[in-house]
Order: sequence, then C-alpha cells, then structure tokens
Amino acid sequence: MRRKLIAANWKMYKTPEGAREFAAAFLPLVKNVHHAEIVVCPPFVCLPAMVEALHGTRIGVGGQNMLWENEGAYTGEISPGMLRAVGCSHVIIGHSERRQYFGETDDTVNRKLRSALAAGLQPIVCVGEVLQEREAGLTEEVLARQCNIAFSEISTLEAAPLIVAYEPVWAIGTGKTATPEMAADAHRVLRAEAAKAFGDERAANLRILYGGSVKPENAKALMSEREIDGALVGGGSLDPKSFATIVAAGDF
Ligand code: PEP
Repeated sequence: MRRKLIAANWKMYKTPEGAREFAAAFLPLVKNVHHAEIVVCPPFVCLPAMVEALHGTRIGVGGQNMLWENEGAYTGEISPGMLRAVGCSHVIIGHSERRQYFGETDDTVNRKLRSALAAGLQPIVCVGEVLQEREAGLTEEVLARQCNIAFSEISTLEAAPLIVAYEPVWAIGTGKTATPEMAADAHRVLRAEAAKAFGDERAANLRILYGGSVKPENAKALMSEREIDGALVGGGSLDPKSFATIVAAGDF
C-alpha cells in the first residue's frame, strides 16, 4: 500500500563533477527499478548538475535543508522557492546534524515544514532520540514531542506530501544500526503521533523511512519490516553500487 522510498543524503560530500560521475554510474544500475521511489539529496552546489543528469528518469532530487522564508536578507540561506526553481521535488528538514551543530529546534522544524509544504516540496522530516534519551527510556516521549511540535498548525490536506524519517541519532554515521524491531517500534510511535495530528487515514498512508547506518548488508532486514517504508541513507549512498544495492534490497 505504501510505496517504498529510498533517499540518499550526501551531506557535505561531492562536487558537481562528482555528482555527474555518480549519476552516470548509478543510472544503469537502477534502470529496471519499479518497486521504489528514489531521491538523491546532494549539497546545494550539485543540485543543477544532478537535476540535469537525472532529467527524464523517475529519480527525484532534494535539498538537505532550507529556510522558511522565500527571500530576504538571510546570508548563506536557501529558500524553498529556490529549491523548486532548480528542479527539486524534495527537501530534508530537521536532520539531526542540523539540530546538533546548527541550532535547529522543533520550532524551526515546524516553520520549515509549513513553508516547504506551502512551496509544493515533499518534505522528509527527520526525528530521533540521542543515546542518553534511549538509555533513559525516553525514546517515545522524545519522538512524540518532536512530532507534536513539527506537525502543529498543519492540516490533514496540507500534510499530504509529508514523509517522516526515523533516525536514531546514535545510529547516524556510527556503524550502529537499530534492530529492525527497534525501528518498527519507533515507527509505530511516529504513526500514532501522525494519527493524532492528521487522522487515521493519513497516518496509515504516511511513509516513515528508517535512517542510521543503512548499508547493503542490513538494508533488506530493515526494509522487510512492515512498518519501515524505505530508508534515508547517508554514507551508504555515496557510492553508486552501494546505493543501488540498498535500493534493490527494498524489492521483495
Ligand atoms: C543520514 O545522514 O541521514 C544518515 C542516516 O547517515 P548514515 O547512513 O551515514 O548513518
């Protein structure tokens, strides 16, 4: 019922030339993929090259962040309209690295989410607990708070394009992965929060991705969980063969 989505987050890796090389190697590997949507989120400077290289394919391109304003005196920022103008279909919002290093809060996530939806982008909103929170038994509470604030003042209709990524912070870039059962439990919490905000039907259709050290070796076990609707992949998406293997692992 929920189509799998497998998204690449390249973080601060690759130049436009590297993006073109990736596309040239990746496209032949996924030309027969019909089971999943694929989205690549490169650094901003690679977006035009990526859009051009993927033109005519079904692969979407997304930004890794944006500001909630559409223009203005905000040095160094990128607006939702700018992402749209270069051909982005998606945008990652509230990634834990932005929360950890750049002062992103639940409130700014909410502002960005409302602005992305208004601009017609498909937002991938990241939530997840840090290790101390998990060890203190606070995972559910943290996820509920993050969703509750992120989803506020958004109607069910407006939330139609929303995608959520559960990314336990202790699993990002560390090589540690949540077990498929841990991820599925967290996804149930997130779906319940979505039901409170947007109703049961929207929650049942909401795609919730898992992110955190997804690799070719663990992708199948994770994505075969009924609750896991795809993956947000950092390090494992930088190499075309690795990312294509992860994409293929979503087909069963
Ligand atoms: C991410 O950047 O969203 C991520 C999950 O990174 P990694 O796959 O490298 O853990």
